[in-house]
Amino acid sequence: MNVTALARQLKVTTQEFLEKLPELGFDIGARAIKVDDKLAPKIIAAWKRAAKKAAMQEEMGKITQIGTKDDKNLDKATQKEITIPETIIVKDMAELMRLPVARLMGELMKNGIMVSLNEKVDFDTATIIAEDLGFKVNKSDEEIIEEENKREKLNKLLSNRNTKDAKPPVVVVMGHVDHGKTKLLDAIRETNVIDQEAGGITQHIGAYQVTKRNRLITFLDTPGHEAFKAMRSRGGQIADVAILVVAADDGLQPQTLESIAVIQKEKLPFIVAINKIDKEAADIDKVKQQLSEVNLVPEDWGGDVVCHPISAKKNTGVEDLLDLVLLIADMGDLKADASGSAVGTIIESHINKSEGPVATVLVQAGTLNIGDMFIVGNVSGKIKTLKDWTNKDAEQALPATPVKILGLKKAPVIGEILEVITDKKEFKAKSKNLNNYQSQHQITAQKKNDDDEPSNTLNLIIKSDVLGSAEAIEEALTKLTVADAKVKVIKKGLGQITETDILSATATNAIAIGFHIKKDKNIQILAEEKGVIVLYFDIIYKLLEDIEERLENIRSKKTIHKLLGKLEVLAIFKTNKASMILGGKVTEGKVVKPSKIKVFRNGEIETVGEIGNLQAAKEDVNEVVEGTEAGLEFKGDPIIQIGDTLEFFEETYE
Ligand code: GDP
Repeated sequence: MNVTALARQLKVTTQEFLEKLPELGFDIGARAIKVDDKLAPKIIAAWKRAAKKAAMQEEMGKITQIGTKDDKNLDKATQKEITIPETIIVKDMAELMRLPVARLMGELMKNGIMVSLNEKVDFDTATIIAEDLGFKVNKSDEEIIEEENKREKLNKLLSNRNTKDAKPPVVVVMGHVDHGKTKLLDAIRETNVIDQEAGGITQHIGAYQVTKRNRLITFLDTPGHEAFKAMRSRGGQIADVAILVVAADDGLQPQTLESIAVIQKEKLPFIVAINKIDKEAADIDKVKQQLSEVNLVPEDWGGDVVCHPISAKKNTGVEDLLDLVLLIADMGDLKADASGSAVGTIIESHINKSEGPVATVLVQAGTLNIGDMFIVGNVSGKIKTLKDWTNKDAEQALPATPVKILGLKKAPVIGEILEVITDKKEFKAKSKNLNNYQSQHQITAQKKNDDDEPSNTLNLIIKSDVLGSAEAIEEALTKLTVADAKVKVIKKGLGQITETDILSATATNAIAIGFHIKKDKNIQILAEEKGVIVLYFDIIYKLLEDIEERLENIRSKKTIHKLLGKLEVLAIFKTNKASMILGGKVTEGKVVKPSKIKVFRNGEIETVGEIGNLQAAKEDVNEVVEGTEAGLEFKGDPIIQIGDTLEFFEETYE
């Protein structure tokens, strides 16, 4: 069998395959091209065993071991720091963490992520796994560099286009939570969609278009956080105009300032929509005052910031706001090249149960057609179906048009650039070079169903209206003591619970908690689909009470291994497919039937099985004590060797 074919089967590169073989006890030479046909199955088996062993060792590390000296043989990860980029190859990550790559793969596998050592995982996943292993994770500058690269790539792709065709403005609505972004987007959609039927659609594709004065305006309607993310990474290249929503009764808040920072960094034309003016506590002047304090002086105060009072609830001033959007857009003289192959940015992406991977792309140049071959990040494909934002089949999509695409092999990452490649040869070559980057979505899709594994850690993702409260909640939660059960905050952040949060929660078996944020129907649907628990609280002690109860519940699932005795293997009598007959001497405690068995070699756990028959002096017995020789049947992976130590233990659940 060819080495390359075998490596491919094991999902590693040939080089890695050859490098790893000696570790597994095979010496076929570093330059071997072929493997003996008899040896190949042995290599495959050893390879799989190594991965299984890594996963099992990790598992054992989580179980309470009692009744012996510390025999865990697992290196306890001390708190170390690592810095990782947006994506990292598993092998490199293991090196950074100074861990055997098999161990890291085991940890990934346990989280449902089936990757080989040469595949990439994204930053969020790497962080979760690394933190699980006791590491503190920092984001490397590379991530920023990568973003810059994407930005440059998009710039490049767009720069050589002939911007001759007028295009609708693309508008993003930003602002602090609860200031009325959703309400405003709803109000605009409800009153300005020509096709009234479409106004009532529930399907969310992350953007919609309205007609005002016979002109189209595209609104990005991504959940707050995603919009931010997209804005940060692709900035002014996605949107042409921003509407900064500020509630007149609440003034400038942390996320308002964050939005202003993004707008300014991207030099994005914007309008301040002073919302909720119907409220008694509304104070427009106060908002203007606060804006002036951050150097955003309103027009009527002698500055150049357009402020427009509205009530999204009462639909007051919303129409004029659209006129202002068109005015600002006209000042920018928006143009794009509508001919030629399409370039766009992914604004939404998920795996739909019936449709498979689905993404929404905002076309930025050219025309996207059914049948187009494209590359987006590390995913390639051919457009099978295009659907407009009302979910109607579309033939093509012009610049500034949001369109849902089907025909993806994997769900792409939000913010990624989609590029249509018309030349078949070029497409083939480019698709070939794509590495198997695993996005969070794919990871979720591949998740194993290991939900009922006993664990005494409750993973949480906390989102709140202000970062301070998320931090306060985390602190209070970590102080909760319920026997050995504890909480682990996998992620905390500002703003709504997003699709990404739900996907992270799926991959890590976490519960998503929203504090002082409002429920989102779409998120609720996704969470239900993925089996993620989402809890919302407004009062901290209620949150603590709930979590305490959950900790009590998981505590009862704790696994305890009580060591009963040890035996040194002196002889192997028979090796079957899933059992062995062997003999040895009891060196500590006693060997008891029934019990479970851990097999140790050179201090490392190799496998776990259980005892079948037990004999002493050729008689069937139930117990053999220290100092005596015993013969026994081991049920499990038949990999025991002479010299191995068997540990007999009892497994209980507290
Ligand atoms: P978002 O978090 O910025 O998307 O805020 P929402 O659009 O969800 O609005 C938050 C709350 O403020 C909801 O209860 C809305 O009904 C309410 N709201 C939004 N706009 C207005 C408004 O113009 N007037 C009043 N009175 N309430 C509003």
